[in-house]
Amino acid sequence: MNIDTIMSTHRHDSKLQHSLYVLCYSSYLSSFQVSLHALDNPTIVANYYTLLGKDESLALKVVARLGYYSVTNVLFQSIILRRLFLRQPTIPVGRNCSCSTAPLIDVEGRHFTTGCGLRGVRQSTSRAITQSLAYIIHYSHATCTFEDRHVLRAVDENEGLRPDLTVFNAPNYNAPLLVDISVVQSFPGSKNPSAPLPRKPPDFYSTLSLQHRTSHSAYNDKVNKYQRACNTNGVSFLPFIMESNGFIHPTSKLFLEDLAKQASFFRHIPWSNLLQFFLSILSVSLQSALSRAIITHTSCLNPPPPLLAILSDADISTVHLFS
Ligand SMILES: [Zn+2]
Repeated sequence: MNIDTIMSTHRHDSKLQHSLYVLCYSSYLSSFQVSLHALDNPTIVANYYTLLGKDESLALKVVARLGYYSVTNVLFQSIILRRLFLRQPTIPVGRNCSCSTAPLIDVEGRHFTTGCGLRGVRQSTSRAITQSLAYIIHYSHATCTFEDRHVLRAVDENEGLRPDLTVFNAPNYNAPLLVDISVVQSFPGSKNPSAPLPRKPPDFYSTLSLQHRTSHSAYNDKVNKYQRACNTNGVSFLPFIMESNGFIHPTSKLFLEDLAKQASFFRHIPWSNLLQFFLSILSVSLQSALSRAIITHTSCLNPPPPLLAILSDADISTVHLFS
């Protein structure tokens, strides 16, 4: 397809602008792909190819007419920098992390979003997704409970597993559906970003398929962990896996589609609009949580000065005057 064909076939068509945009976009992308290979930076290549897709950057596209879509300026800046794989201004250059392997901290924030086990940020990220998914489930006229300790103990009362969510009236499931939520890195190496990537780019990443994605192995790990206990207790199980770039595992996404169809039945809104609503909520929730993780880590790297030994009322009354 070139400009001449578009101008002759879509001349009086409402799709003219759209077709021209697609043409420019794909031409820009193909020249960008060439420059990627010339650059020969495996991490940037991996980032680029794992990011390709249309739903991954919804957080940056939504107009904040709903409270669910709004983010603070500081978070939005960090989100857009992560999307473009640029330096996060709050992360100092050349510092090592104090976590187990003491890696060199990357300034793009990969280590701080998914690679670092410190300061509880990974837990808060998955909690943010759990809360958003619980809202979506309730909105779709299903109900859910958090971290049910008893649902997997009907057969063995010492069973230690407990799911993030137990969903009742989930579409296409007769038994209660147990959902376990994880957020994984979009390509390997965030634990130690300065180490070479385990896969050989660029050839590997340009032919990336679902079987190679990090969400795919995370999905299988969760099934191996939970399925047996779920079968013995007569309940269903679904891993809900999101990658840090926003990619949602296809089976998890299918669940969202089913919820959208169920919600559509009760709310008389087209299900495709509802699916877009759900994906937008999740995207904003994920990207905000990941950028909050960067801010939490960096504020601990540069803590404010310690309290004065003797703090007077005069100190407290004047400290905010110039802030
Ligand atoms: Zn760390």
